[in-house]
Amino acid sequence: MSDYDFDLFVIGAGSGGVRASRMAAGFGARVAVAEELYLGGTCVNVGCVPKKLFAYAAHFAEDFDDARGYGWDLEASRFSWQRLVANKNTEINRLNGIYHNLLTGAGVTLVNGRARLVDSHTVEVGDNTYTAERILLATGGWPYVPDFPGREYVITSNEVFYLEELPRRCVVVGGGYIAIEFASIFHGLGCQTSLLYRGEQFLRGFDQGLRDHMVVTMQNKGLDLQFNADVVRIDKQEDGSLQLTLKNGDTLEADLVLYATGRRPKLDGLGLENTAVELDEKGFIAVDDEYQTSDPAIFAIGDVTDTVQLTPVALAEGMALARRLYRPEEYRPVDYNDLATAVFCIPNIATLGLTEEQARAQGHKLDIFESRFRPMRNTLAGNDEQSFMKLLVDQDTDRVLGVHMVGPDAGEIIQGLAVALKAGATKAVFDATLGIHPTAAEEFVTMR
Ligand code: FAD
Ligand code: NDP
Repeated sequence: MSDYDFDLFVIGAGSGGVRASRMAAGFGARVAVAEELYLGGTCVNVGCVPKKLFAYAAHFAEDFDDARGYGWDLEASRFSWQRLVANKNTEINRLNGIYHNLLTGAGVTLVNGRARLVDSHTVEVGDNTYTAERILLATGGWPYVPDFPGREYVITSNEVFYLEELPRRCVVVGGGYIAIEFASIFHGLGCQTSLLYRGEQFLRGFDQGLRDHMVVTMQNKGLDLQFNADVVRIDKQEDGSLQLTLKNGDTLEADLVLYATGRRPKLDGLGLENTAVELDEKGFIAVDDEYQTSDPAIFAIGDVTDTVQLTPVALAEGMALARRLYRPEEYRPVDYNDLATAVFCIPNIATLGLTEEQARAQGHKLDIFESRFRPMRNTLAGNDEQSFMKLLVDQDTDRVLGVHMVGPDAGEIIQGLAVALKAGATKAVFDATLGIHPTAAEEFVTMR
């Protein structure tokens, strides 16, 4: 038994910190976790979970329209933002309670408050000081908003989940996951919505065919997409509304401006200067392949490091680290290849493995299978929206390298295919697989 209060002191009870704490405690380590805001971290409180609940809410508008073609006559629908937020809050409170029980049930000591490193083995939380043989930094990220006149008038994803009123006119700035998802959510809930992106086309890094399809799909829904649009200032008008001035001189009126311009590692007040921990050139905590920082007693996982900012990645890293430290015989490194991810816009985007651009850059000769079709559900609904599917196949090995989709439930469909790619599936295996008819997903095994 060491002289330290704990074997492992974890800072941050988000996706990565909770998983690492529970696993380490399960392996017999004496573990404490400090959390300053909310159990479950970003994902549970101001990320994946409330976002998905809002996305479900936004879907209903189209479902009500589509229902007419299927014989339903609905009374004029009314939407209560306040009820949605209240119900969402109840659900998040329930999840916070579950996280509390999971941690205490595993024997983890919970410490409420902001933690600061005093040295490589000592953490201060409020008036209390704790020592530990090892410390894990799992403090996640925080929304980044660039500096410009009027920055104080905008909100970020941290605030959007608690708005008292649903805005009538909304501007979303950014072209990544959060921007696309919230543009869809606001539009679906009936707000007049503009999306401003600084570059030629949003969703940089996604497959080009998928990006092109998504532009058309969102425009057809009536969203105002503005590319090469840079905000230079925002002014508050007398009536409380906001006026955005763009670099090209155009102006835009809005009741709410949401900035979704990326996230930065959360390091403020953490006391890194009291340790040997170093940052990388992008400002993330630098770690080796096994999550050790330049201070041998301190480790870091999840969004505070330069990893893929997704909950399953933080969970996998938390699990891998707990094994590495306390069950080394079971350690296996996280496999970051063939990652599957979804953007929960309407309709969903889901993507797996390489994009066409990445595959070509790696020198693969490709066979490309693409399909654009109107899903059967849209026929009676009188809805012309098309789904998009794309398979990238390596000509030399027949291996499927990438799978991309825009369409209802794309996230659900691609998850299963992620298993196939992990198992090294070839196009011949896809061809030999019988479809489930009639589904949209069967298209992936009938592309010739
Ligand atoms: P976090 O979950 O951010 O946890 C860090 C915790 O540390 C926080 O609770 C914080 O309060 C605490 N903390 C920080 N500093 C201190 C300190 N000094 N002392 C004590 N506590 C501290 N990912 C997906 O896979 N799917 C999605 O659909 C998805 N949707 C998202 C939607 C939004 C709007 C956002 C913002 C993110 C979304 N993500 C999604 C990303 C996902 O939430 C993150 O990748 C994930 O939460 C990272 O986990 P983490 O453990 O690294 O950090
Ligand atoms: P992203 O990194 O996905 O997107 C940031 C966007 O902001 C990019 O379009 C970027 O443009 C733009 N941008 C960056 N800086 C500026 C600036 N100074 N002025 C104008 N625009 C700027 O970040 P998000 O905030 O959307 O989300 C953070 C991360 O959280 C995501 O990357 C993802 O990993 C995770 N997440 C996952 C979700 C999911 O799984 N469904 C949902 C939400 C978040 P450019 O492309 O030109 O750099």
